[in-house]
Amino acid sequence: MKQVKDLEEILEKTSGKDKFKILNQLSEVYEKISPQKSIDFALETLDHLQHLKGSQKKAEVYIRLGDLYKQVNEYDRAMSYYQTALELSKSAKNDKKRAEFLNSIGEVSFRLTNYDQALEYYLKSLKIREEIHDKKGIADSLNTVGNIYFQLKNYSQALDYYQHSLKIRLELQDEIAIAKSYNNLGNMYSMIKDYQKALDYYYDAIKLYDKGGEEKLRSSVYNNIGIIYREKGDLKKAEESFGIALKISKELGLVYNHANTSNEAARTYLEMKKYEEAEKHLNSALSEAKKLNARNVVQESYQIFSELYYAKKDFKNAYEYSKQFADLKDSIYGELSGKIAEIQSKYIAEQKEKEAEIYRLKNVEMAKYIKDLQKANDIIKKKNKELTDAYMKLDLLARTDPLTRLSNRRDILDKIKYEALKFERSGEKFVIVISDIDNFKTFNDSYGHDCGDFVLVNLANLMRSVLRKQDCIGRWGGEEFIFLMPKTDFEGGTMVAEKIRKKIESETFYYRDIKLNITMTFGVNVYDSIIDIDYCINKADEALYHGKYKGKNCVVRSDEIS
Ligand code: GH3
Ligand code: MG
Ligand code: MG
Repeated sequence: MKQVKDLEEILEKTSGKDKFKILNQLSEVYEKISPQKSIDFALETLDHLQHLKGSQKKAEVYIRLGDLYKQVNEYDRAMSYYQTALELSKSAKNDKKRAEFLNSIGEVSFRLTNYDQALEYYLKSLKIREEIHDKKGIADSLNTVGNIYFQLKNYSQALDYYQHSLKIRLELQDEIAIAKSYNNLGNMYSMIKDYQKALDYYYDAIKLYDKGGEEKLRSSVYNNIGIIYREKGDLKKAEESFGIALKISKELGLVYNHANTSNEAARTYLEMKKYEEAEKHLNSALSEAKKLNARNVVQESYQIFSELYYAKKDFKNAYEYSKQFADLKDSIYGELSGKIAEIQSKYIAEQKEKEAEIYRLKNVEMAKYIKDLQKANDIIKKKNKELTDAYMKLDLLARTDPLTRLSNRRDILDKIKYEALKFERSGEKFVIVISDIDNFKTFNDSYGHDCGDFVLVNLANLMRSVLRKQDCIGRWGGEEFIFLMPKTDFEGGTMVAEKIRKKIESETFYYRDIKLNITMTFGVNVYDSIIDIDYCINKADEALYHGKYKGKNCVVRSDEIS
């Protein structure tokens, strides 16, 4: 506190250009004592910095403002400061800091339910941390990526990332971080309904937290323990656990946690038929969550409110809340991907028609309300499933070559990128082969374009049938194909290419009674050290061209020609 006093004295005496330095220091020392004061000083620092040309200083203050708003759960504001910082400092000098910053943007995106964006930033951060061998950072990033997959209900991927992260944290003996991993693993087992295992993990986490401060995390673990007891039907114990979590989050002003746990407590009281208690908790959850713009929490409150009114046989209100729940869910889901916007708008139009229909029935007796409510819920469920199916179909289409039905260039590139990342983590080599049909132009020129297409389709089918299950094949361009062979070395890849070459050479193709002799040339390269993906593909391409030069219908390894 002495430091604060000294600085405030100096500030009074300082004027002009140097003032911002003192303001900035004051903001820094207040960061841990009072986030709100720290924010005020940082904003004042910014005022004094506006005239400066150098953007690095400004960027630092913007980042701190982002961090501070994140700390007080104002995620919208945090995000807008982070974005400005991002524009100002395209290349911060300190990699470790930059990785932390990108990770923070990921966290805020996560809280704002922009999962695509969160994943993007988490992976950017992970990449930097891997480059500078920041083990603690890598473990943190792997953990956050796990959280995304968990949120997207991809539990096997989530488990994979969580376990990787835990392994590193155990090596580093970082107890607080280990406890975080235990909590996440607890969530996993809770999801797959292995409640005993989940409780074991949660209590292991609590044991570690009991040693040090980490009250914020303790509150969320107690929240999770409460959920398990509720699922197991032990409502008394659930109430007790939520009580502890609420007490901690209230004391520390953790509004997000408090709102979230209030929802869970409300659910429990609803099951206990203590409707007044449930309503009290819901009101507080809803007003807190709205203040934070935490839409996923608001959505939960709406859903529970609807159930509460249903239980109280107030069907009008039950219906109103279920509609608000559906609308909000719809808008969160709708922002997940631009691709489904079109289907989405059709869905909304249909939905509006249905609503109009339901309103006309409003005056009918109460029993009818129950039926409508159930019907509306069924429709929403069905539409949600249709949307997911349509989205998956679109995604598949965007990744497929329409003529050959093979992966297109974009899809295969994504797969190669994924393999390259895997190589960085586990050192698994893979092989890339580029192949090109020999004298393909003659098929087009002699028998027409349809004949050329016929050759492409038949070759694609033949190659697909010869390739091993773990390999992928894509159409790279006109009459060129690309193979990706995971967990394969030079020798193995060359052998597979040779097998395909022979099979094509010996096969007879008939196009309208015309016998076609088809051959292909192949270039093989292996990815066995961290290099640019384009460079690796180019090497395979060079080998292919060497094969053409040698007389075609052959397999050439890239290490044969250099
Ligand atoms: P090389 O043995 O040296 O590879 O000779 P080539 O005749 O196979 O190669 P070139 O690159 O000269 O010709 C490729 C031709 O493939 C040119 C293009 O018109 C044709 N082509 C590209 N895409 C398609 C397609 O989708 N269908 C058909 N029918 N032809 C295509
Ligand atoms: Mg070609
Ligand atoms: Mg060709």
